[in-house]
Parts: sequence; C-alpha cells; structure tokens
Amino acid sequence: MGVDRVNLLEFDLDGLAAYCQQRGEKRFRAVQLFRWIHQKGATGFDEMSDLARSLRSKLSTQAEIRALTLLTEQASADGTVKWLFDVGGGNAVETVFIPEDDRGTLCVSSQAGCAVGCRFCSTGHQGFSRNLSTGEIVAQLWHAEHQLRVRLGLGPGERAVTNVVMMGMGEPLQNYAALVPALRVMLDDHGYGLSRRRVTVSTSGVVPMIDRLRADSPVALAVSLHAPNDALRDQLVPLNRKYPLDDLLCACRRYLEAAPRDFITFEYCMLEGVNDTLELAQQLVDLVHGADRSKRVPCKFNLIPFNPFPQSGLRRSSRERVQAFAKVLQDAGIVTTVRRTRGDDIDAACGQLAGEVQDRTNVQTRMVRPVIRIETTG
Ligand code: SAH
Ligand code: SF4
Repeated sequence: MGVDRVNLLEFDLDGLAAYCQQRGEKRFRAVQLFRWIHQKGATGFDEMSDLARSLRSKLSTQAEIRALTLLTEQASADGTVKWLFDVGGGNAVETVFIPEDDRGTLCVSSQAGCAVGCRFCSTGHQGFSRNLSTGEIVAQLWHAEHQLRVRLGLGPGERAVTNVVMMGMGEPLQNYAALVPALRVMLDDHGYGLSRRRVTVSTSGVVPMIDRLRADSPVALAVSLHAPNDALRDQLVPLNRKYPLDDLLCACRRYLEAAPRDFITFEYCMLEGVNDTLELAQQLVDLVHGADRSKRVPCKFNLIPFNPFPQSGLRRSSRERVQAFAKVLQDAGIVTTVRRTRGDDIDAACGQLAGEVQDRTNVQTRMVRPVIRIETTG
C-alpha cells in the first residue's frame, strides 16, 4: 500500500464527510463509506457494492483502510486475547480483549511508551516514543471487532466489543488531539455505536485536559489515584507535582457535571509497604468524602493488585491486605472492587512478550506492560 494514500481510519464521520466533499461527493456517501469500514469491517473498496464504480476506483487509488501490522496474537484459555502491533521504529503497542458474561471489553493503547513515568508502570519505565494517530487508535478496535466477530461466529446484529477502556499503553489525555476523533468513531451510530457509559478514558490526572474532555466528549472517566496525599503521590505519579490532588479532585467534581455516570472510578494500584496501609485507606476515605460536603467526590474504587516487573523494585500487596484495605473503603460506604487479573496463561512472566518480539524482529522493541486489566464498573 502506498504511504501517500489517505488512511480512512484517521477520520471521524465529519472528517470523512469533508474528505468526500472535497471529491465532489455528498455526505450520505461518507456515511455509506463509514459504515462499510466500521460496521462491516471492509478492508478494500471493491466489496462496497452500493458505491458507484467510479467512486470506488477513485478511492482505490487515493485512499486505503490501513490496518496495523500484527506482530503476535495470544489467546488465553479464559477467552482473553492479546494482540501486539508493530507501530514502526522498533515500537509495539498492545490491545487486549477481555470477555465476560455480559460484555466484551477492549483495552486500547493511546501512545507508544508514556511520558508520565509512574514508578510502578513498565510503560512508564520505557519512556515516551510517540503518540498514536487517530487511525492507529481506531485500528485497534477495528481489528479486534471484526476479527472476533468471525472467530466467535457472531451474527449480523451482534457485537464482540461492547466496552472500550483507554487503559493500554500511554496517557490518553497527553494525546488529546488524536484521542477525541477516535472516541467519536467509537460513539458514532454509524461507527461502533458504543454509549458514552461504555467508553472509559483512564488518566493519571492531566487536569486541563479533563476539563476539555468534559466539554468535547464526556465519556466515563477513570482516574489513577494510587495515593491519598501529595507527598506519596508525587513519588508514584510524577505528574502530581504539576497537578496536585486538590486540583485533580476539583476537576473530577467538575467532570461529573457532564459525565455519563454519576461517579468517577478511582484506580489504586496496591503496592506492598508503599501505599497499602490501613491508615492510608482511611486517608483516602477522608480525601474523597471531603472536609466539607462540597468537596465530596462521588466515586467508586478499583483496587489493582500490582503486576510486578523486574526493574520496578516493588511488590504486590498480599491478598489479605488488599481485602482489608477494601474493607476500610467499603465500611465508609464507598463501592470498592478488586480487579481480577485475566489471561494469566498468556501473560506468564513479565517481559516475556517483549523478549519474543525481539527474537522475531531483531529490533529493539520496547516492553509492553504485561498486566491484563479489566474494567469492572461497565
Ligand atoms: N495512563 C493512563 C491509562 C493507562 S494505565 C493511566 O495511568 O490511568 C491503566 C491503569 O493501569 C492505570 O490505573 C495504571 O495505574 C495501571 N497500572 C500501570 N502499571 C501497572 C502495574 N504494573 N500493575 C498494576 N496496574 C498498573
Ligand atoms: Fe503512563 Fe499510565 Fe503508566 Fe503512568 S500508569 S506511566 S500515566 S501509562
């Protein structure tokens, strides 16, 4: 495929309509094209039988539906599927599908690497390589949905992916310009038709962008908290030095004015001896309940057992400690879930995946965070 062709996965519907208009085509043609791409999973233009032959041949010389280059696919006995995509320059990103009884959640990456550099995160330890484009974000969903439909033998009206969580590699709110059109494709009735409640952006707390998301595309919001006070959070999530907890919680309260759900999901990675004491659990309660009621943040907590990796020097809290920590929150009336890890058999040891990729391609492929997370609030 020629690199100078326009990748139609880069466009939300308005973008595609503008592209079509420049070629003298009406908006409804863009709608047809968009539906072929996202609802039917078309890979080329020949199959788009209700488009004029002349338009199809024009498109086939100027445009393409550019899939990501698949490096590896691993399927777990529990139905979890993990894809590793090559995004060039020795970088790879990961997409994970987690099936549950009543939903199928896709965990999508937004960047190759990440600039935030959280202490407990292997993506953070790699540093930042580059932002993914809208097309590269959308291509993860496009690939997963259409491949899974075939694999699971789904009928015409059925969907494999019912929920999307932006919890793969990268900080989505530091790739805002590419993120928002990608969200629009997910939400569009002519695209994937997901409701705002079923699309979750997870952020380490980029306060100004939380406000912009509220205005531009208020989907469900998860905030990675990890500590109840600035001194500790500064150490774990370096972005806290720029946007401290007070500012972050104010942004959360503002977000709720437009959010599709009436709570924020706080994620909290459980690190033994670092942030898992019961005293800190009580501090968390005080933090989100607020000194006065106007400072209260309606929320749920999702406790994530730390997924260790060699360079971290950190350990996962014991199951008993996680339960005791959860109980402090629950006793204060806060809905708290402990995230199960899934796909353990394809996860295996940390770093294994990156090692495999290096063997295959002989390039310096960056490590992909091996933990598999599931959203339990959807
Ligand atoms: N950058 C965004 C989204 C990607 S990370 C964010 O930080 O929210 C998605 C979630 O995985 C975050 O809550 C993050 O804190 C958590 N996480 C990162 N590394 C982890 C690890 N080693 N073990 C468990 N959870 C981890
Ligand atoms: Fe980036 Fe999120 Fe990892 Fe922090 S936890 S380094 S923000 S991907």
